[in-house]
Amino acid sequence: MGSAFRGDGAEVVVQDSGYKTVSLVLDPLREAYGKPINVNSGYRCPKLNKAVGGSSTSRHVLGRAADNTGGSKVENKKLFDLVKSLKLPFDQLIWEKGGVWVHVSCSPRNRRQVLSISK
Ligand SMILES: [Zn+2]
Repeated sequence: MGSAFRGDGAEVVVQDSGYKTVSLVLDPLREAYGKPINVNSGYRCPKLNKAVGGSSTSRHVLGRAADNTGGSKVENKKLFDLVKSLKLPFDQLIWEKGGVWVHVSCSPRNRRQVLSISK
């Protein structure tokens, strides 16, 4: 397990044993970004995932995904572009809700799929 902290100080857990979302993506991303990144959502138990309307196959349930923000859409765009340009080993990179946050996940076979979800 790795962990990160939300803006309000609450700890967010992201599993780092299987596919290394934290060490392979979030750490290099933070280093390149040069500022702290807020992780709003990491691991979600199935009940919480359902409550927030997450997909039943969400990587959040497996602890392999993180929803990140730099605090504004402009900052989020920088994070989104950095994940791509740094060639990090992600499975999915999602520009969510028009850039309110940036979802990134890892999996056994990282597809480097880039998506934009507006709703
Ligand atoms: Zn997410």
